[in-house]
Amino acid sequence: MNNQKLIKAAEKFGSPLYVYDSNKIKRQFNKLKNSFKSVDNLQINYAVKALSNISILKFIINLGSGIDAVSIQEVNLAIKCGIKPEKIIYTPNGVSMDEIKKASQLGVKINIDNLSVLEEFGNNNPSVPICIRINPHIMAGGNTKISVGHIDSKFGISIHQIPHLLRIVNNTKIKVNGIHMHTGSDILDIDVFLRASEILFDTAKNFDKLEFIDFGSGFKVPYFPNDSETNLKELGDKLSKRFNLFCKEYGKKLTLMFEPGKFLVSESGKFLCKVNSIKQTTSTVFAQVDSGFNHFLRPMMYGASHHIENISNSNDIQRYYSVVGYICETDTFATNRKISTIRNGDLLCFNNAGAYCHTMSSNYNSRYRPAEAMYINNNFQLIRKREGFEDLVRNQIDIFSQ
Ligand SMILES: *Cc1c(COP(=O)(O)O)cnc(C)c1O
Repeated sequence: MNNQKLIKAAEKFGSPLYVYDSNKIKRQFNKLKNSFKSVDNLQINYAVKALSNISILKFIINLGSGIDAVSIQEVNLAIKCGIKPEKIIYTPNGVSMDEIKKASQLGVKINIDNLSVLEEFGNNNPSVPICIRINPHIMAGGNTKISVGHIDSKFGISIHQIPHLLRIVNNTKIKVNGIHMHTGSDILDIDVFLRASEILFDTAKNFDKLEFIDFGSGFKVPYFPNDSETNLKELGDKLSKRFNLFCKEYGKKLTLMFEPGKFLVSESGKFLCKVNSIKQTTSTVFAQVDSGFNHFLRPMMYGASHHIENISNSNDIQRYYSVVGYICETDTFATNRKISTIRNGDLLCFNNAGAYCHTMSSNYNSRYRPAEAMYINNNFQLIRKREGFEDLVRNQIDIFSQ
């Protein structure tokens, strides 16, 4: 997917455009798989919420992946893509009991992270096996918005509530088939991850009918040239060894699970947008593009910094630009970033646009959501049409025209 090809794709499908390189997704999947090849039973469950296009889901399912779903709609999307329900793990947080029941009737694995939900569900459905989401109270993750395993987090059942958890399991006769944690995104320190894993192993010893241990996700991927990333080889070596040892002590070969979203799809994605105008103020040169936080929210939402390249003019003199959108609100993508000279009409390419980008887009300012294309077999294929005016008004009811 070089620059010339990206420019061709934007000419063909218009701008702004999301493109995803299927080769990169496959390489990431195999990299994770190979890092844990000394574990006999490994299951990678792709976290749908990162990028939920059905062509992407089918591609990842065909690689052999399972699915991590956080809503009944994601469960249904995955089933529509042909996966067997037992390869889906459903990890709700704060959803209705009704939704959990529906998911369990579909035959997916259920992951519960709330004692009162566990008790109610267990009393009414004692034959449905349940995985328990633990909160190990480890501060992990790139920043507080994406760290979900700390003590004040709404996620997981606190390790300090294990006695209470055990009482509920005994009283309801629930079969606990898995132990799970997901502590956050952008984990760099492998020792922190291993420490959280020890807490998971400790908790696991309390249950004698386990089938799997799910270590969640949070692998950091590089966002810039030479940026840091989770050392998967080291993590794979250390955690595999520890996991195999645990299985020996436990007396059963369990399945080791992960549920990566960002790791599998982030780097595969590029976001292409066109420069509408250059605006020079007394302090700044703004490059204003035909997009905004309605299409690409991460910089404004998380303060995320995405590498931006001018692919129409990539080898010119580098100048400082603030790249902003066309939304009538502050929608800064990058501040005083060194980019090869930008002219009106140039195409800018944002990296790491695969995870949590298109899935977070909206119609704010009554703009259309962008198209998506997949690069597969040396070809770009459209996998989502650009929206049009009819999409904006589809579900609205004009009470004055009747
Ligand atoms: C979001 C989420 C993931 C994926 O996280 P990434 O950082 O994208 O890998 C995994 N598991 C659960 C339960 C999640 O909510």
